[in-house]
Amino acid sequence: MKLLIMGPPGAGKGTQAEVMVKELNLTHISTGDMFRAAIKEGTEMGRKAKEYMDQGALVPDEVVVGMVKERLSKPDCDSFLLDGFPRTLDQAQALDATLTEMGIKLDGVVNIAVPREKLMARLTGRRVCKGCGASYHVIFNLPQVEGKCNSCDGELYQRSDDNEVAVGNRLDVYEAQTQPLIDYYNEQGLLFNINGDQEIKNVLVDILAALKK
Ligand code: ADP
Ligand code: AMP
Repeated sequence: MKLLIMGPPGAGKGTQAEVMVKELNLTHISTGDMFRAAIKEGTEMGRKAKEYMDQGALVPDEVVVGMVKERLSKPDCDSFLLDGFPRTLDQAQALDATLTEMGIKLDGVVNIAVPREKLMARLTGRRVCKGCGASYHVIFNLPQVEGKCNSCDGELYQRSDDNEVAVGNRLDVYEAQTQPLIDYYNEQGLLFNINGDQEIKNVLVDILAALKK
């Protein structure tokens, strides 16, 4: 299967993707995770991307598109779940062109919908594992041991862009640039709309049921 997972920042894409990739045997490709890995490695691309990320702005299309194109050419991408990409119409069109070149088609786009007023609390309370990138929350999704990841025992940290100012910008950017992609994929008959404003386990049940159909 070749899938996209969409939704505003804080919708639960990473949380659901972590389980979906295991259940459906997919390669998880998260552009946000790829940028954070580049920052950690101290590459030139990571240094540039961090300037945009810390402000809650998008990294320029040509950088992201190039990075995704290269990633999709790897042998583990027979089945994938793209998370956090595309985020602009230009990125969506570039993805279409890349997939056509590769002779493959998307099977579906999972869109997790959550009202904007719920997202600030989700994002400012998010804690992420330094080891595996799993998402937790100080109220909605506590780890079993405080400050430690359930799966890999890694240390939990707060992302530098999960502060009120950057989150506000990210939500504005989402509404202006990414939300229009919902119509783009709906018109292609690929969209599965999922209610993300319910318990984490119920969101997963709805996603798996929608994909089974
Ligand atoms: P995204 O990848 O879409 O930005 P995450 O999966 O990292 O979002 O989730 C954002 C925050 O919201 C995390 O702290 C996560 O634990 C929490 N979260 C995810 N899904 C839900 C949910 N259904 N209800 C409440 N909190 C959630
Ligand atoms: P995420 O982990 O998906 O919340 O992404 C974190 C940040 O990485 C975003 O706020 C952007 O600055 C950058 N980023 C991730 N994916 C993209 C993308 N497809 N296009 C542009 N910027 C991106």
